[in-house]
Amino acid sequence: MDFTPQQAILELGDAFYDRVAAALFPQTSLRFRNDRAAAEVGLDGLSDEEWVAHFGRFQPLRGSLEAPLALRYHGHQFRVYNPEIGDGRGFLFAQMTDSHGRLMDLGTKGSGQTPYSRFGDGRLTLKGGVREILATEMLEALNVPTSRTFSLIETREELHRGDEPSPTRSSVLVRLNHGHIRIGTFQRLAHFQEAEAMERLVAYVLRHYYGEEPGADGPARLLAHVCERTGTMAARFMAAGFVHGVLNSDNINVTGESFDYGPWRFAPFWEPGFTAAYFDHAGLYAFGRQPEAIYWDAMQLAISLRLIADEEPLIEAMEAYPETYQREVTKALLWRLGVNPRGTEADGILTRVLEKALAETLTPLDEFFFDAFGGELPTHYGEAFDDLRGQLEFYQPRKARDHAYWSGTPCSMLIDEVETLWASIAESDDWAPLHAKVAAIRHMAEALA
Ligand code: AMP
Ligand code: MG
Repeated sequence: MDFTPQQAILELGDAFYDRVAAALFPQTSLRFRNDRAAAEVGLDGLSDEEWVAHFGRFQPLRGSLEAPLALRYHGHQFRVYNPEIGDGRGFLFAQMTDSHGRLMDLGTKGSGQTPYSRFGDGRLTLKGGVREILATEMLEALNVPTSRTFSLIETREELHRGDEPSPTRSSVLVRLNHGHIRIGTFQRLAHFQEAEAMERLVAYVLRHYYGEEPGADGPARLLAHVCERTGTMAARFMAAGFVHGVLNSDNINVTGESFDYGPWRFAPFWEPGFTAAYFDHAGLYAFGRQPEAIYWDAMQLAISLRLIADEEPLIEAMEAYPETYQREVTKALLWRLGVNPRGTEADGILTRVLEKALAETLTPLDEFFFDAFGGELPTHYGEAFDDLRGQLEFYQPRKARDHAYWSGTPCSMLIDEVETLWASIAESDDWAPLHAKVAAIRHMAEALA
């Protein structure tokens, strides 16, 4: 794959972004380069020096953007509208085509201040960067549509944070995303009543992310696509046992690719009330409330689109979300159970008895899915699993358990392990456990794929 630069974002015009410069990082240590992701955009051939020049000092990639762009957006944060946000510690660095022909973005996190930094330093802690690697690798392995962590470079500044022992180490991260247009990008245009700009944005998203031409029904078609993709994303979160933590509308990509990982956690058990963010006191974004939270975000897109579209087709598009979610969560749970679907009705029953057994017994999720993969439950799963076992009799394995992963132990990503991996880095600058974990996750991914 040759590097194929793009600069489609410039079609939108200057009202959508601010040209910015990266902070100067005199000291850079390359900590993680994702050569698998780089190969998909033709950047795996870079030497480490070139890599750091592009992803630590932000020397432009030839043919793509000449200057980084801080993207403008608003959004609801925990249901409160905030018109003061935007790319406050990141920017769009480059666009390119990937090996699937998709328009991709390289975006940053921790690359310095922008007009949207408000009180913030524009930086990312090293721990935050390490956590983002772990989240994205695990999600990718579990078949969740996600941004990829492309690069992590330590920058050797001292940062102060309320939620980490400070001073703490710093980093700059680059992620590979299927676009960076958020629901909040639309909300901002609705806020300013910029109908013409919104028409342009609808056209941009339909053309570049959905392969369609705009037309009169463009807004409703766009909303239908977003409901389909975000409903699928919500479903995959659930089957993965993932809690994003901050499902604000500025963190929801209109391509339905999950991104922006802060206080995320994987749930140890099927516990709908399990909450990731320590500041989410009401449990708004708890494990079991994610499908509804993402639906609420999609609704904000519908409300924004009212600026240029009639209500009825938008309502119709929204109405498809619950069905999409139901269909996709069933598919995703069956995928993780390692069995082939049999049909809507049977699969619906299977997932209901599965959820019931998991919730009642609080069985460790990763262990359960490891044991159950292929559809045969080991005998130590007792009475509470009888209904599930009965249903599984009718199912065929999706894949044989012949990968070496199945003779080892289940790979999970619970908070204690995340903290242990970080402690090796914090206490003895030992990066080997992190790299070993990434390898272990990719090993599991092969077994599941
Ligand atoms: P998030 O909750 O990470 O999606 O961030 C919400 C908003 O706060 C976004 O506009 C971010 O760019 C901004 N932000 C978060 N952390 C910082 C920081 N350290 N410096 C500047 N802006 C930040
Ligand atoms: Mg964000």
